[in-house]
Amino acid sequence: MPQLGKKLLISGNGRCNLLNDNISPANYNPAAKNLIKSAFSRFDKDSILDFFTSLGLEMHSVSDRVFPITNQSSSVLKLLEMELNRLGVEIQTGFDVTDCSSENGQFILKSKTGAAIESEKVIITGGGKTYPALGSDGNTYEMARRLGHSIIMPVPSAVPLTVKDPLCHFLQGQKIYSSARALIGGKIESEANGELLFTKYGLSGTAILDISEAISIAIHRGNLHDVVVSLDITPFMSGANLKNELGRRQKAGFDKKAFFTGLLPNKFNAALEPLAEGGDINKIVNALKDRRFKITGTRGWNEAEFTSGGININEVDEKTLESKLKKDVYFAGEVLDVGGQRGGYHLAWAWASGFIAGLAGAA
Ligand SMILES: Cc1cc2nc3c(=O)[nH]c(=O)nc-3n(C[C@H](O)[C@H](O)[C@H](O)COP(=O)(O)OP(=O)(O)OC[C@H]3O[C@@H](n4cnc5c(N)ncnc54)[C@H](O)[C@@H]3O)c2cc1C
Repeated sequence: MPQLGKKLLISGNGRCNLLNDNISPANYNPAAKNLIKSAFSRFDKDSILDFFTSLGLEMHSVSDRVFPITNQSSSVLKLLEMELNRLGVEIQTGFDVTDCSSENGQFILKSKTGAAIESEKVIITGGGKTYPALGSDGNTYEMARRLGHSIIMPVPSAVPLTVKDPLCHFLQGQKIYSSARALIGGKIESEANGELLFTKYGLSGTAILDISEAISIAIHRGNLHDVVVSLDITPFMSGANLKNELGRRQKAGFDKKAFFTGLLPNKFNAALEPLAEGGDINKIVNALKDRRFKITGTRGWNEAEFTSGGININEVDEKTLESKLKKDVYFAGEVLDVGGQRGGYHLAWAWASGFIAGLAGAA
């Protein structure tokens, strides 16, 4: 890329959620548990906070999510660039590495333009595959593959989902607090509460992004088709209470065109009017508490926040992040199959793994 940190700039909606107050292996790919434990035992949450504080970054937490006090990603990027300059680190932008080979203990990195750099050690930090226009398009997986590494098939994660259901089209633009469950082959694979957004192509919002990884893996990696999202759009009320409330509304003679007023945003009245007309309370409860959508796909790399999959962590030394297959090659960041939840965990991993690979590589 012509400049550093393009993805960092858009992170957290331009605010950069750079850390979470509660980091634990439970927030990452369960298969990476030992790697995560090892990395954060050496560069933990406090080390990350101290590091950024020492650069001059003031931070604040909002529901455990750590942001720069300026709420600007550019503050984080600028301070990192100033530190690189202070340390005299040579920066080469616009150097698109297409090949990494080794000869007589020296690595040769070749760029698209034919320019080459020699080095004794290499750290591969090419990121995942999301938002490829910002620089990380998965090409460094191929580099690792040529060095002998296996790649767990990358799939888009924290990604909106596509469905063919007239309700989504009708309610497009409507946001509502919901409880979402991913059912794969009839089994609940993940669950999340949060904002749901109806779109003309399907479902989005934080509740959907938070359950999307299991769905994306099933569809893209497992080629599974029995993938369903079940929505509870009245999670604030138990099924029994909802039944009572709906019965009360029927008895009180609520207008069928305005039957759900006060329970759901007004637009839902028109969408659910046929149910209100039908008058079957069990059917209505079911439609509000367990409305099912068959998932046809994901919105893909251009709309996903993270990559699930990447370089097989079993081939990487837990303590140093050095390749077990090729001496003097290290990895850090999203390029590894570490995954993670939304909430600052990916950048936390990028800082911790960058620190560890950098120190080990410099030793
Ligand atoms: C919309 C969005 C919002 C996000 N928000 C957050 C958030 O708030 N909090 C959070 O924790 N995470 C967030 N993430 C995820 C987070 O940004 C990434 O996990 C993180 O940036 C990964 O860091 P990285 O250094 O491993 O990779 P990247 O940041 O992707 O950097 C990889 C770099 O490698 C360069 N590169 C790739 N291939 C080559 C090559 N062949 N030659 C030379 N250079 C190459 C790229 O140009 C890029 O500069 C968000 C992601 C997206 C897409």
